[in-house]
Amino acid sequence: MEHYDVAIIGSGPAGLSAGMYAARAALKTLLLEKGMPGGQAATTDKIENYPGFPEGIAGPDLVMKMDEQARKFGLDVKFDDVQAVSQGQDGIFTLKTNEGESTSKTLIIATGADSKLLNVPGEQEFRGRGVSYCATCDGAFFQDSKVAVVGGGDSAVQEGIYLTKFAKKVYIIHRRDELRATQVLQEKALAHPQIEFIMDSVIIDILGKDQVEVLKIKNVKSGEEKAVTADGVFIYAGKTPSTVLFEGFISLDANGYVITDAAMQTSRPGVFAAGDVRHTPLRQVVTAVADGAIAAVSADEYIEHLKGK
Ligand code: NAP
Repeated sequence: MEHYDVAIIGSGPAGLSAGMYAARAALKTLLLEKGMPGGQAATTDKIENYPGFPEGIAGPDLVMKMDEQARKFGLDVKFDDVQAVSQGQDGIFTLKTNEGESTSKTLIIATGADSKLLNVPGEQEFRGRGVSYCATCDGAFFQDSKVAVVGGGDSAVQEGIYLTKFAKKVYIIHRRDELRATQVLQEKALAHPQIEFIMDSVIIDILGKDQVEVLKIKNVKSGEEKAVTADGVFIYAGKTPSTVLFEGFISLDANGYVITDAAMQTSRPGVFAAGDVRHTPLRQVVTAVADGAIAAVSADEYIEHLKGK
C-alpha cells in the first residue's frame, strides 16, 4: 500500500490542475480516475472561452496537455475506481479501490458531475443505440441523418451546433420557451439552417426497433403530442454531482454538491473539493482549474500545519 501526501479523485481539469500544483510543490501526489480521463471537458468538441486559445481548442486536446504537464512534475496517475473513503484516528485518509488501497494525508475531491437522465421510456433501452449523452463521442455515427438534442443550456446548444457537422438536421427540444444558453451560442444556433427548435416540449417516449427511430414529443403548454423521426437523441439535461461516495463523510448541499470555503476546504479538515462537484456559481474549465490550484495549495498548507503540531 502506497502512502501519499495528496490523493486526488477525478482527472478532469480540476483534478489535473490540483495534481500539477501539488506535484510541482514536491508533494507526493496520486490521481485516481475510474473512467475516461479528462472529465466532461474531454467530451467537449470545442472550448472557445478558455483563455490563451483565441481560435478555441478541442476539449480532448486541452485535457491531454494538462495531463502531460501534470505528469511532467511527477503526478502519479492510476486508473482505478474508488469504492470507499475513510479517515483513521491518526487523521490519515484511506481510499479503498478496485485494485487495493492507498493512504494519504489529504484528499482532493474532483469527481465532477454525471449526465442527468430524462427517465422516459426507451432511454435506457436505446442507450448506445441512438441515445447518447456525448456528441463528441457519438456524433460521427449520425452522418446525413436526423438527430435531436434535449435541453436549453450551453451544452445542448453548443453540441447541437457541433452535430450539424454530421447530421443533416438537428432538432433542439427544450421544455420552456426560453433558452438558458449564453446569447452568443443562442444566436449561432438560431441562425443555423440545419437546426430547428422545438420549444415548450418534452420527450415522452423513445421508440424504435433496433435503433432509435421515433421520438414522441409533448407540448407542455397545449398538451399536443407529435412524433418526430430521428435516428439519434443526445441528452443534455444538466448534471448531477458525483458525490454518492461522500454522503455522510463531508457536508453536501441540497442538490448533492460539496460545500467548501474559498480555500476549497470542505467540512472535514484535510479534505478539499474542486471543480464542478463543488457548490459554486460558475462551472467552467477556467473555474475548475482555478479551484484545483487553490485546493492543492490549501492541501500543502494543511500538511505544513500538521508538521507544526
Ligand atoms: P444546464 O445549464 O443545467 O442546462 C440543462 C438544460 O436541460 C436546461 O435547459 C434545462 O431546462 C434542461 N432540463 C433539465 N432537466 C430536464 C428534463 N428532465 N427534461 C428536459 N429538459 C431538462 O446544463 P449544461 O448545459 O450541461 O451546462 C452545465 C454547466 O456547464 C453550465 O454552468 C454551463 O454554463 C456550463 N457549460 C458551458 C459551456 C460554454 O461556456 N461554452 C459549454 C457547456 C457547458 P430549464 O432551462 O428549463 O431548466
